[in-house]
Amino acid sequence: MKAEIISIGTEITTGQNLDTNAQWLSRQLAVIGIPVGFHTTVSDDLTDNVNVFRIAASRAKIVLASGGLGPTLDDLTREALALLTNVQLVENAESLQRIQAMFAKRGRVMPDRNKVQALFPQGAEPILNERGTAPGIWLPIGDSVIACMPGVPSEMFHMFETQVKPRLLAMGFIGGVQIERKINTFGLGESGVEERLKELTARGRIPEIGITVSDAIVSLRIIARATTLEEALALAAPDELAIRERLAEMVYGVEQEELQDVVVALLAKHRLTIATAESVTGGLVANRLVTVPGVSEWFHGGIVAYDNRVKVQQLAVPESLIQQHGAVSKEVVEAMAIGCRTKLGTDLAIATVGLAGPGGGTEEKPVGLVFVALASDAGVITQSFNWNGTRTEVQSRAAKLALNVVRLYLLKRGS
Ligand code: ATP
Ligand code: MG
Repeated sequence: MKAEIISIGTEITTGQNLDTNAQWLSRQLAVIGIPVGFHTTVSDDLTDNVNVFRIAASRAKIVLASGGLGPTLDDLTREALALLTNVQLVENAESLQRIQAMFAKRGRVMPDRNKVQALFPQGAEPILNERGTAPGIWLPIGDSVIACMPGVPSEMFHMFETQVKPRLLAMGFIGGVQIERKINTFGLGESGVEERLKELTARGRIPEIGITVSDAIVSLRIIARATTLEEALALAAPDELAIRERLAEMVYGVEQEELQDVVVALLAKHRLTIATAESVTGGLVANRLVTVPGVSEWFHGGIVAYDNRVKVQQLAVPESLIQQHGAVSKEVVEAMAIGCRTKLGTDLAIATVGLAGPGGGTEEKPVGLVFVALASDAGVITQSFNWNGTRTEVQSRAAKLALNVVRLYLLKRGS
């Protein structure tokens, strides 16, 4: 029992827009155990659409399409389905009312053209669209079923979740359950993580554990398939434990969690305030912190101390220190953190310096070298790292390193 996903739109076949709907739908189908055999993309051409639907219905039990349901002349899905099944398009009174009501709610008169959105091939059923005007189309054909959804991703997501998926489940189209658990780590490279996990990441192992790297964050995905959700969860749980045991404090979070989310939660737990003194990261650490809702109670502010004069004047870094060690040094970053903590009166202060490149590196201090310091009532801790990477990569990783230093400090700090 295979599924086929059809993405309709000339903006996709021309390469103007990326087809993210097919990707999303495939992942959703995988979760309910329905394998996808085909992804088909077709332009806004009537004959091509009819053919694509014909082929899909002949080789797949479930056909999920998106796009071409709008009111304009290039929206051809309705017509294509009517031609394919050789029936008339008929108006559905309830759908027409809904569309009119949708316009009325926004204080607008429905343009005549939108009437076509209430037309359905005979034998088809409207699918409720709570997020837009275009209803979807549910059309059984032979022993297959075609479900057409709007192209606008947010409308499509909602329609699939609330209308299409329940219909598929009710029809018994379910081959089991697949769950994915994502575990995020910082502080080890991909090969370092792999080395520690050893046999856990072997190909063909059940459950499967995959490693992905994105800008210094190494994530592990446990993919477990089973007949029921409980079984799938039970399959994944021991592996998550094993990963946490082997990678210890390098694991900072799960799923979409980012370093700053964990840092802010820890600041709140310890009731500690923080400020930033940033050179190489130019405000990236502060920027990451303020993405977290409710951070204002813990993050007070920061100083972007890019030029040495700002380090001296705003953060009281002794000029002699810069002359003696250079701005990119353990000594200077520590002085910045201490100066920032005093100046802004916070419990903690985090500072960054580094060489983002591409120019300016030396044998002793190569491009990619970064120092981070954290000042607290217990003194200063420093960490340095050297990344190969572009300017933006070095800066972004330095910001993450800074947040990670705060995280590790707070994890170890007694309350
Ligand atoms: P509507 O009924 O709202 O007019 P539609 O069903 O006619 O929607 P389109 O006109 O094809 O859909 O596309 C509407 C929007 O959705 C466009 O911005 C398009 O880029 C986006 N979109 C369409 N198909 C996809 C897709 N497969 N992946 C990602 N975005 C898409
Ligand atoms: Mg459209």
